[in-house]
Amino acid sequence: MVATQATFEGLVIGGKRVAASDGRTAPTTDPATGEVIAQVAQANAADVDTAVKTAHARYSEGRWHEMHTRERGQILQRIANLIRERIDFLAQIESRDGGKPIGAARGEMGSVANTFEYYAGAVNKIHGQTIPVNANGTHMTFREPFGVCALIIPWNFPLVITAWKVAPALAMGNTVVVKPASATPLSALALADLVLEAGLPEGVFNVVTGSGSVAGNALAMHPLVRKISFTGSTEIGMGVMKQAADGIKRVSLELGGKSANIVFADARIDACVESSLWSVYDNAGQDCCSRSRILVERPVYDEFVEKFVNRTKTMKVGLPTDESTEMGPLITTSHRDSVINYIHIGDDEGAKRLCGGEIPRGVLSKGNFLTPVVYSNVTSNMRIMQEEVFGPVVGIMPFDGEAEAIRFANDSPYGLSGSLWTRDIGRALRVARAVETGMLSINSSSSVHIEAPFGGMKQSGIGREQGMTALEHYSELKSVFIAND
Ligand code: NAD
Ligand code: MN
Repeated sequence: MVATQATFEGLVIGGKRVAASDGRTAPTTDPATGEVIAQVAQANAADVDTAVKTAHARYSEGRWHEMHTRERGQILQRIANLIRERIDFLAQIESRDGGKPIGAARGEMGSVANTFEYYAGAVNKIHGQTIPVNANGTHMTFREPFGVCALIIPWNFPLVITAWKVAPALAMGNTVVVKPASATPLSALALADLVLEAGLPEGVFNVVTGSGSVAGNALAMHPLVRKISFTGSTEIGMGVMKQAADGIKRVSLELGGKSANIVFADARIDACVESSLWSVYDNAGQDCCSRSRILVERPVYDEFVEKFVNRTKTMKVGLPTDESTEMGPLITTSHRDSVINYIHIGDDEGAKRLCGGEIPRGVLSKGNFLTPVVYSNVTSNMRIMQEEVFGPVVGIMPFDGEAEAIRFANDSPYGLSGSLWTRDIGRALRVARAVETGMLSINSSSSVHIEAPFGGMKQSGIGREQGMTALEHYSELKSVFIAND
């Protein structure tokens, strides 16, 4: 598709697709080819105001939060079913707009359906308590929705993260305004069609596409927004938290990471190498949970590095449409430039680049591709070991003993995710408790499950998504005493 044939995609306000009031659009491109795939409406502050007021009016009318909980759950289940029926269609949109390998995109769409299904079942299973206080009455608690929630989404897992926010927010009876990232707006717009088809009342789910500085900022500042849930960089998240201070808006933040992968000498090295590879290069390293610092106990350091580098060199970097592709492009050319800049920084800091960092030629030269990078000779204070690169770059560092492993792991402003590998169960538990991180996997790289809480410590964020915990972050606790007489 060429630029002139790109489709037009509008905002979604009150169940209708509308243009921006000033008619502004911006292109979204395919990161693998550079082709423009759609012209997308760019909401201005007035459009955001209309969207929030619409969401607020729909909330106040009560059609959603006063609906029978069973019926609300059934609508969320129908959304899950429709997503499952259209996995291929949605996966193609996500793969094209964000440059994801098609197989990975399909898997993500499956998890989007699972997320709606989980919260469909949760709607009528969250409830308050009765609390003994005295003989003359009863004290009880209720979980009340907020009203309008502003949900701000990054580009790396667009529909997955949209679902992590939308499903629990709707389950609790809120209405929402979603702001997708400007690089990947299309899947949230596709979801808008499905939720209407599933019977969600119009105006409960709204989408404002556009830039962060205009649409995102106007949304975060809007006085009728009661809760902001933001996923993105720590830098922007800090600004959102300051904006939330005006009006004491509730705020959840899922931010950056620089997670450690700790490999003890007794680990099963071959399985650990393969898993560790995906834990850093999945989604071309554009993953907040990426284990981009690998700490290896000295006796197995050389073996680990050799096996890791050999496997990295065989990673298939290719077009997202090719089922055998293991790594697709980075999201934009400017983001690739920032990753390449980190590679220059790493080289200059004296780290030893064992492979990668090349821009592929031929058919891939039109996209934002980059071959995966492994560094050895790194120290904990280097910028490539401290800052989130958000690309396919990893540093592997040796350590001596458990205490040093914990010290290196915690030498970070972030605390999102991480892994540790050992056959010693006592050590596994000791280290798991000592690492300052919101999530951890032991003898695995899998720490994300819709049924379990997700979120970070330190500068990786505030609040938790997923699991029943997320519902607490989309509701307020009300405490009521009723007298007997
Ligand atoms: P980003 O911070 O640039 O943008 C995130 C969203 O915020 C986008 O929709 C953007 O348009 C919007 N935004 C930008 N400026 C804004 C403003 N002033 N006010 C309100 N909204 C604004 O992040 P990104 O580049 O899209 O995503 C990559 C980052 O996200 C990485 O740092 C990554 O670690 C982080 N991330 C974290 C998690 C997590 O769960 N912890 C998950 C995915 C991504
Ligand atoms: Mn795009």
